[in-house]
Amino acid sequence: MVNVIYISIVSIFIISHTWESIVDFFNAKWFNKQLDSLVSDIYDNNEYNKQQLYKKENYKFSNISGTISFVITALILIFGLFGELDIYISNLVSSPLLQTLIFFAIIGFGSTILSLPFSYYHTFVIEEKFGFNKSTKLTFFADTLKSLLLGALLGGIILSILVWIYNFIQNDFWWMAWIFISGFSIGLNFFYSTLIVPLFNKQTPLEDGELKQAIEDFGKKAGFEIDNIYVIDGSKRSSKANAYFAGFGKKKRIVLYDTLINQMNTSEIVAVLAHEIGHYKHKHTIANLIMGIAQTGIMLYILSLFLSNANLSIALGGTENKFHLGIIAFSILFSPISEFIGIFMNILSRKFEYQADNFAKSFGLENELISGLKNLSKNSYSNLTPHPLYVFTNYSHPPIKERIENLKK
Ligand SMILES: [Zn+2]
Repeated sequence: MVNVIYISIVSIFIISHTWESIVDFFNAKWFNKQLDSLVSDIYDNNEYNKQQLYKKENYKFSNISGTISFVITALILIFGLFGELDIYISNLVSSPLLQTLIFFAIIGFGSTILSLPFSYYHTFVIEEKFGFNKSTKLTFFADTLKSLLLGALLGGIILSILVWIYNFIQNDFWWMAWIFISGFSIGLNFFYSTLIVPLFNKQTPLEDGELKQAIEDFGKKAGFEIDNIYVIDGSKRSSKANAYFAGFGKKKRIVLYDTLINQMNTSEIVAVLAHEIGHYKHKHTIANLIMGIAQTGIMLYILSLFLSNANLSIALGGTENKFHLGIIAFSILFSPISEFIGIFMNILSRKFEYQADNFAKSFGLENELISGLKNLSKNSYSNLTPHPLYVFTNYSHPPIKERIENLKK
């Protein structure tokens, strides 16, 4: 039995990496494809050449970094090093809770250190070369340190409570863990803007003026109360622009990147916001939250079936049943199902994007939205010729060409 599980874990890991590489490869084959007339005016020749170089360089980079991380993880699995690590930790401390915390701390810290040179290269070599990087080295390392500490704190709290539930009430583990994790993620959603974002960025209320007036006028027309519009200093790290919606009910706020305000004119920004309000009006935020919760429940239920099986821990090289080894083994065995769930969620998300676009269109903002989308696309060098298979599996938003087609309909 252990052998079957061992072989399944290693082969599922290898197959999913191969599958992802194939999809990436198909996508790269389409980089040079002829542009559709709907999107051919986004770049001039010179800029489009630069964009092509940017795509190719990123593809090469993700190929190399992906292969290295694949090889390291595959070796760890093949030689049972997760189990070795567990045996080493078990000799140091006897408390199951401490063992789990130390185990994940070592893995989390190790993978951050390993990925650091790659993200450094990506930020200060590739993004820098194409003029996107605005981050200083101080910001970069402070970000890494803060994310590590935040991950340790949040991860530590969640793991401690899960291990505690698991050790005391094994049979009811899945639904108690479900309630806890759901509550935690709703809380995090609620306080994201006020507790997490300020650790990394400054948010200031949008000052009075033409833009604020235009946004408020649109809010009135759309029957949507906007009292929290914030500007975030995205320019601290990158010239790429964005806008998003956070929180619910009274806590909800619209967040605009300062880079967005610099790159777009007022009517384009209003159209982009109309799209965001469309998400809210169609209750997409709530729908995503509910689906996330349902997904967590199903996953925890299946996890609880797996955790009682000591063979999972032994297949990873351990000697006895361990919570943390069970979680690692499960996450790999479950990954084909997560892949399917991910594809389904992307299909749904692309549907939601069309609905939000149509909401903006229903206020006659289609031309402004098209020009806003073109603007965003141009200023982030986004891919205008993605492969359909790549779009199907990886895109949460429809490609810009299809969005323009829909808006022009
Ligand atoms: Zn959207």
